[in-house]
Amino acid sequence: MKRPVIGITASHDTEHDKLFINSVYLRAIRNAGGIPMIFPMEVTEDDLRDLVTLTDGVLFTGGDDIHPFLYGEETDAKCGNVSQPRDSMEMALVPLVMEFGKPIFGICRGIQILNTAMGGTLYQDIPSQFKSELSIAHRQPFAYKVPSHTVDITPGTLLSRILGEEHASIAVNSMHHQAIKDVAPGLEVCGYAPDKMIEAVYAPDYPFLLGVQWHPEHLTTSQQDAAKLFAAFVDACR
Ligand code: MN
Repeated sequence: MKRPVIGITASHDTEHDKLFINSVYLRAIRNAGGIPMIFPMEVTEDDLRDLVTLTDGVLFTGGDDIHPFLYGEETDAKCGNVSQPRDSMEMALVPLVMEFGKPIFGICRGIQILNTAMGGTLYQDIPSQFKSELSIAHRQPFAYKVPSHTVDITPGTLLSRILGEEHASIAVNSMHHQAIKDVAPGLEVCGYAPDKMIEAVYAPDYPFLLGVQWHPEHLTTSQQDAAKLFAAFVDACR
């Protein structure tokens, strides 16, 4: 069977100006049958287009906060560090990949950049901006490999189809400072945390676009549901 090439966005260590990628992403893609390929930053849109043609699908990974200007807000005092080169590369990459109709998977910052690029907004700082009667940790106090909250899966959605329609919820880890506030046009929520935090979105009118707010790449060896997400994405890229 053909092994699809999966383009992956890298993180930017702005202090040392270095690109890096957590190996768990690469391992999860390889284990699902894909060949990972890491995208550079600071490339022209034409170069980016050429790179997209070399891939069969794109994974948007986790990382720093997204600059609030990109969704029309001033910077809140509690916003975290941003990388403008990474933001601009990914903001250009989302519409390019969509132009080709290639499968897209967004993880953590990935779901946020998809929502931002498609016209949605974010909470800049969950603890001070997101109001709920439940006090659920979205920055969990233990290792990424251990799930910390549940996500209710909306029936009849892409997430539901991937995990099996009998699945009402999934246990996930949680390591995010920001989250979706207003959902972008073209996206629909397919998973909420019990405090009503948006944890998963998809694009009903697109071949395959899934964004999750958690980190399934840390759970693939211990949880079948996490492995199923990568398998569904890589299979869609074949
Ligand atoms: Mn969470």
